[in-house]
Amino acid sequence: MKQITSLAEMQALVYPADAKIGFVPTMGYLHEGHLSLVERAKDNCDITVVSIYINPTQFGANEDLSSYPRDLERDLELLDSLGVDYVFIPTNEMMYPQPYLTWVNVDEYSELYCGQSRPGHFRGVATIVFKLLNLVRPHYMFMGEKDFQQLVILQKMLADLNHPCQIISCPIVREEDGLAKSSRNSYLSPEERIVARSLSQTLLQMKAMVAAGYKDATQLIKIAASNLENNGANVDYVELIDSRNLRKQTEIDDHSRMIMAAFVGKTRLIDNMLL
Ligand code: AMP
Repeated sequence: MKQITSLAEMQALVYPADAKIGFVPTMGYLHEGHLSLVERAKDNCDITVVSIYINPTQFGANEDLSSYPRDLERDLELLDSLGVDYVFIPTNEMMYPQPYLTWVNVDEYSELYCGQSRPGHFRGVATIVFKLLNLVRPHYMFMGEKDFQQLVILQKMLADLNHPCQIISCPIVREEDGLAKSSRNSYLSPEERIVARSLSQTLLQMKAMVAAGYKDATQLIKIAASNLENNGANVDYVELIDSRNLRKQTEIDDHSRMIMAAFVGKTRLIDNMLL
């Protein structure tokens, strides 16, 4: 595995002709969720590139940028053992030369849900992903459904900007008890870890209710939110949306997805499930 730590080297990298290039952008502190994307890329592409970069512009002023977990050495060992070809590790100076003035924003979609409690978050995400795509030049980008709103926003960005890269969305990898794997799970105390289960448990319960014939979105949202609160989580939002365009739904159909964000102690967790 080759490590690339300069812009010039990334830009000058010449891939074999006709090779299909797969890309997995990450913020590091890798877990099985990330590794599932890497494996998918390895299975479907000739060359796999992974980036590790904690993008400061997607963190709000009061968020966890400085405390975000890191372990580069372990990440590199894991990626090497999976047979990744290139790992790109840029610095803030490379990605945001000062004064930095150019941004990518997907209007409307970026203001919804996570965008409400994290103003500017998706502008930071869209900008860094667009920049990484320009540098890495992949045919396919592998992303997790864990960050469902992000996935739809980036799909819209690529479509609107006529970008040829295709996003391959990959299922959420969960802990044995259902909790969606996340680098931020390392913040949870043992007691909080038990509360955190209530997100996936609530989603499964809602899925079962839909299977039993429940169709009223407002009712399902209400039940889900009180379920979370009763378990000790602090709800940021619970919504029922159309998976294709993030629009709120009033009645369940084949595209209905419940999305949620909740604080467990100080840690903000997200989860979602197709109902
Ligand atoms: P992050 O390092 O949090 O920016 O995540 C990098 C990529 O890994 C994103 O595409 C995430 O959606 C994906 N990802 C994170 N957690 C999971 C998970 N539990 N299952 C599947 N994909 C995940």
